Amino acid sequence: MSEVLSCFDPAANPGGMLAVDESIQHILAQINDPVATEEVALASSIGCVLSTDLVSDINVPQQRNSAMDGYAVAADGLDPSSPLTVVGQVFAGGSFQNTITQGEAVEIMTGAPVPEGADSILIREACTQQGDQLSFIGPVKKGQHVRQAGEDIQQGQVVLPAGTLLRSQELGLLASLGYEKLNVFVKPTVAVFSTGDEVVAQGSPLPDNCIYDTNRFTLQGLLTRLGCRVIDLGIVEDTQDKMEEVLRKGAESADMVISSGGVSMGKADYIKSALEAIGDINFWKIAMRPGRPLAFGQLGKTPFFGLPGNPVAVMVTFTQFVQPALRKMMGQKGWQPLRMVAVAEERLKSRSNRTDYSRGVYRINETGQLVVSSTGMQGSGILTSMSKANCFIEIGNEFDKVEEGETVTIQPFSDLI
Ligand code: AMP
Ligand code: MG
Repeated sequence: MSEVLSCFDPAANPGGMLAVDESIQHILAQINDPVATEEVALASSIGCVLSTDLVSDINVPQQRNSAMDGYAVAADGLDPSSPLTVVGQVFAGGSFQNTITQGEAVEIMTGAPVPEGADSILIREACTQQGDQLSFIGPVKKGQHVRQAGEDIQQGQVVLPAGTLLRSQELGLLASLGYEKLNVFVKPTVAVFSTGDEVVAQGSPLPDNCIYDTNRFTLQGLLTRLGCRVIDLGIVEDTQDKMEEVLRKGAESADMVISSGGVSMGKADYIKSALEAIGDINFWKIAMRPGRPLAFGQLGKTPFFGLPGNPVAVMVTFTQFVQPALRKMMGQKGWQPLRMVAVAEERLKSRSNRTDYSRGVYRINETGQLVVSSTGMQGSGILTSMSKANCFIEIGNEFDKVEEGETVTIQPFSDLI
């Protein structure tokens, strides 16, 4: 680990805590951009990140066409008091062979090419046709309801640069350009495991003083939503040998390894020893709540996150630290969580020199204002606080409280949770 980091190592800097922003920077500095790419079918590319710039071979629209059902006309010299003569019809996918002249109109459907000589569309609702005579209600603005060739995308233009995350709209856009296959970055494979002799797998009875494993499931959900492949390494016994074994296995088979539990100070020395035996790991105290202890480093070339054990802390540290790292590994440049500002509907407690991630519910109130309230009890083991929530309320280091009516930053769960 770099020397820069050692000054934040609590061992070297007792009581020293790393700020959230600094921690993210240290993590990102150790995460490589992706190199492996693959070709995927457009239809299965949702959630992938482009590894090359995509250029359009065609104009979109390809031809000048009508945005409405109606009549194609030349706007110059049009006079609503003199009817026009309808000289033909043109449908989407068809064409009108002749050039129209002043006084003529061609019935046209949405998407059909605008005939030569015409430059504007009279919408059907403004027209009355009797035989071949067409009267209409003016005024007419030259160019109205005409989509120009290439007005959306021009031939040769970079439509989506490398690094673009493909959502449904990008799939549609690429489909409209005729793409069938794309080059994308290979999505990371992530190995997860839980630690703790008190942690029990579902399907077994729950002994006294034990707890069912929740963290592997929240982690698997979060990772799956990010598009990662997940390797489940189960619950690992609290011994150094078992820990080393699972860390080796994870590092060999995955692009990232994530554990939960056993990273609190002075708690689980065997984890520390195991990590130190096979990796280059630092144990950080981060100035945040929940989620203060975090281990991060490399097992050989594989990044490792040792998240805290408390279920809420796992979700907070995943979203704040693991997510930016994974997004970088997936090829998304400069990813940041979505943040908004909402008015607190109640007094919110925090601690100065800590960033708090309370769980909240945001909504638009009766007066149209974006407001947020807390989900109630905020212990880092209270997972119902996450289940009720639709955002984190992020209260920065500089505040020790937020009064009712004051504004506060929120991170909506939007695309991940
Ligand atoms: P630790 O960081 O290992 O001291 O764990 C902190 C708290 O989180 C303890 O109460 C643990 O029982 C709990 N915990 C640890 N791992 C898990 C898990 N996988 N699922 C649910 N709770 C856990
Ligand atoms: Mg533990």
